[in-house]
Amino acid sequence: MKNIPKDLKEVLNKDYPINIGKIIRREKSNDGSIKYLFEYEGGHTVEAVLLLMREEEKNNEGNITKGAKYTFCVSSQVGCKVGCSFCLTAKGGFTRDLSAGEIVAQVSYLKKENNIDENKSVNIVYMGMGEPLDNFDNLVQAIKIISDPEGLAIATRRQTISTSGISSKIHKLGELDLGVQLAISLHAVDDDLRSELIPMNKAYNIDSIIKSVKEFPIDTRKKVMFEYLVIKDKNDDITSANKLVKILHGIEAKVNLIYFNPYPGTPYERPSRNSMIKFQEQLIKKGLMCTIRESKGLDISAACGQLKEQVNDNS
Ligand code: SAH
Ligand code: SF4
Repeated sequence: MKNIPKDLKEVLNKDYPINIGKIIRREKSNDGSIKYLFEYEGGHTVEAVLLLMREEEKNNEGNITKGAKYTFCVSSQVGCKVGCSFCLTAKGGFTRDLSAGEIVAQVSYLKKENNIDENKSVNIVYMGMGEPLDNFDNLVQAIKIISDPEGLAIATRRQTISTSGISSKIHKLGELDLGVQLAISLHAVDDDLRSELIPMNKAYNIDSIIKSVKEFPIDTRKKVMFEYLVIKDKNDDITSANKLVKILHGIEAKVNLIYFNPYPGTPYERPSRNSMIKFQEQLIKKGLMCTIRESKGLDISAACGQLKEQVNDNS
């Protein structure tokens, strides 16, 4: 800003520092997705990913007939406290919460980097590193700034919070009635297996999660997404599929099956395509909407569960 006095600039710099970090690395995937490594104050790093959901389409004259569609996958914490046994982020432990500004900055930087027009809407999923509801106040503040017409003007219905299922916080979020979408990382249909996968399940079990979702104010045109991480020989059987249908009875739900993405040292295995399809068909047969998530950005480790704090080469 050139139109403010020097004294005021000094005061602003000193008393109102803008610590929103910077991009220190970019990696482009073959499928058009781009992974960005952000560095924040203190040298902490998180990743945010631009997922190209649809490529721009042009006619013979070179005019754009259909615009590209983007989803931004945004991080909420450096590391994560939840400690899921299948998640790479969990291996590094928890470092700190991101501030609201640091969360918003991921979205504004990604828009700017990719010359995404001000008026063009993108979808945001809080599915990067961290458990968003464990950083509740900063997350809510970020959502408000991102959705504000004077802010980034991305409607709350285009923003999806993915949570490992902190029922009390789902309830608290529901009371705020922000209009955001909910994605629940369910992953298992019985509490024993779920507790093995997500230790927090001992405090917030499947019943408590389902109850909190039933009370959540959902846009009647939308559904709650249930993410189901499919792990070979653990939860990929038809009995589990049937049980899932029972658990979700009475909820406007859609299920997103996720292939477990293996990484070195994990005891779990990726399921076969055949068992994924069989599982999906069983849910559909019983009347549940079900999709299989394409693993985007697999070649650059930007896919689910592969986001991990990186060591900054310069530090
Ligand atoms: N903490 C939140 C959001 C970040 S994790 C949550 O757990 O929902 C985003 C998604 O990636 C979750 O559904 C999580 O279960 C999934 N995920 C974690 N590790 C994975 C892995 N190794 N393979 C596939 N998906 C994984
Ligand atoms: Fe945290 Fe989500 Fe990973 Fe679990 S899956 S450790 S909640 S980031």
